Amino acid sequence: MMASPREQLIGAARAMAARGLAAGTSGNVSLRTPEGILITPSAVPYDALTPEMMPLLREDGSHEGPYRPSSEWRFHLDIYLSRPEVGGVVHHHAPHTTALAMARRDIPPCHYMVTRFGGADVRCAGYALFGTAALSAEVVKALEGRTACLMANHGGLAVGPDIWAALAAATELEALAEHYLLSLAAGGPVLLSEAEIAAALSQFATAYRPNTGA
Ligand code: 13P
Ligand code: ZN
Repeated sequence: MMASPREQLIGAARAMAARGLAAGTSGNVSLRTPEGILITPSAVPYDALTPEMMPLLREDGSHEGPYRPSSEWRFHLDIYLSRPEVGGVVHHHAPHTTALAMARRDIPPCHYMVTRFGGADVRCAGYALFGTAALSAEVVKALEGRTACLMANHGGLAVGPDIWAALAAATELEALAEHYLLSLAAGGPVLLSEAEIAAALSQFATAYRPNTGA
């Protein structure tokens, strides 16, 4: 039987932690359902999550369920409200992503995989206190036209059409951040040109489109 949305949310949260992307209770994940947004509860260890604990967020910011939603419910909700194509959001404090975010660096066109996130760079959102509407505004802006961003002095996030796509993007964001950091140690990357980035974007849209066997 297909796992319920609540079970899928827990599965994605635990997979994020198991991949080394979220230490302790850092990070949070959410998914869109017809009834509202299911999000991980705040400050609960991923091992301890049960389906009934998952708060259901409504558009007005109120929630159903006994547990307090993630302190970052605002940016999760604002992303769903401003991006109708998004079905899942993953936020983490993965080591390399966070190291770049602490340096407040955008990821430049240093590898063709940058275009996997929608454009020639992955932006770093401006700093704002965690759990605030100010942070949400910065995140929504940095995410414009992209499926991932860094968050200054905090971490990173990725979105996708569903929670598994968002988790895959969040995992690849951490890999890209690691590669960029290593290349900085090797003297700094040679950046791709606008034409090379345009070609990579078009290759993702055509030759590297999802492989369904059809
Ligand atoms: P929550 O436990 O409230 O989701 O907070 C973790 C976090 O990463 C805050 O930015
Ligand atoms: Zn965080």
